[in-house]
Amino acid sequence: MAKILGIIGGGQLGMMLTEAAKNMSEHISKVIVLDPNENCSASLVGAEQIVADFKDKDSIINLANQVDIITYEIESGDSDVLKSVENKAEINPSPETLKTIQDKFLQKTFLQNHNIPVPEFIKVENIDEVKEGLKKYGYPALLKARRDAYDGKGNFKIDSENEIQTAYDYFKGQKLMLEKFVPFKMEVSVIASRNTKGEIKTYPLVENIHEHNILRETIAPARTSDDVSKKAGKIASDTMDVLKGAGVFGIEMFVTQDDEIVINEIAPRVHNSGHHTLQSSKTSQFEQHLRAILGLELGSTKLISPTIMYNVLGSVGFEGEYRPISILEPNLFLKMYGKKISKPLRKLGHFNLVAKKGESVEQLLEKINSLKENVKTIRIE
Ligand code: AMP
Repeated sequence: MAKILGIIGGGQLGMMLTEAAKNMSEHISKVIVLDPNENCSASLVGAEQIVADFKDKDSIINLANQVDIITYEIESGDSDVLKSVENKAEINPSPETLKTIQDKFLQKTFLQNHNIPVPEFIKVENIDEVKEGLKKYGYPALLKARRDAYDGKGNFKIDSENEIQTAYDYFKGQKLMLEKFVPFKMEVSVIASRNTKGEIKTYPLVENIHEHNILRETIAPARTSDDVSKKAGKIASDTMDVLKGAGVFGIEMFVTQDDEIVINEIAPRVHNSGHHTLQSSKTSQFEQHLRAILGLELGSTKLISPTIMYNVLGSVGFEGEYRPISILEPNLFLKMYGKKISKPLRKLGHFNLVAKKGESVEQLLEKINSLKENVKTIRIE
């Protein structure tokens, strides 16, 4: 019988999950999202919405009472509350996994304990421990908030002794960790999935280019050697082997100068660097996530055509209503998220540029360069 799906969070990821669910109506009859913003992106494509904070206990219980399965599009849900409603709805990925992943220190400790490579790190509970750690790691090093950090907002790169106090004060009383700086060659990621029966599949390695700590562009496949791609794929599936629960996970990694791979962080959800799969692959990461949590056989993760995903971000220096963006180009698939207001660097949409037969990643990159001007948000006067 078709199930009712609950999603904590109804932003663009919830929107694209809802769209995937609509194509699987024999398995999912309805989607209800919990999101604090009225008319959130998912609600615009047919999800029902409970308007409430992601961590609001009563609303999570209310959601659990109405659905068969709960999943999430953000990692900041309250894992203890989710654990307490496990008797009302199936929850995937599991609240235990969410709890481990939500805290970067617990996440990295977990990976390290399973012999999965991560940068060197330590927990720091006062400024003296930060100073001690810096003696060991040298400069630069990263002071990181352990929780509730995203798009680089929870990191402070300490370049010299003079910055220690500023960095420490920046986080005002939050739980922290210190991490050795990795002078990486490239940032890459693997979208990995595991279904409730334990089947594991990974998509090919992709390359991620960030601006202002926000993902700007994903190049699929990554411009690395086969050896590096294989190594990353192996690390991703080893990670899936040890993580409990089902779903799609975004595994962000660094390629070091000597072509080693270390994991930067894991997102227990569909991931921005997997948006290319909407056009580049037979099974999108959104369908894959639903297949995983429903216990269906996972779909093909083969890359059919090289594809570049480019994020449409709100222009810096302006907040307000903006004109709809339109770009016409063969093989370009624009997806806007229905957000009314643009804010600096807000994720408003993305497009996928798919290679035509014989077209190389380099040719796609050149094309993207000529299209960038068209994706600036323009104020409605
Ligand atoms: P995070 O929010 O931890 O994913 O970090 C955001 C960005 O900061 C990453 O995409 C990297 O560009 C950079 N970063 C994080 N950790 C490190 C590290 N240990 N060494 C070098 N760069 C890092």
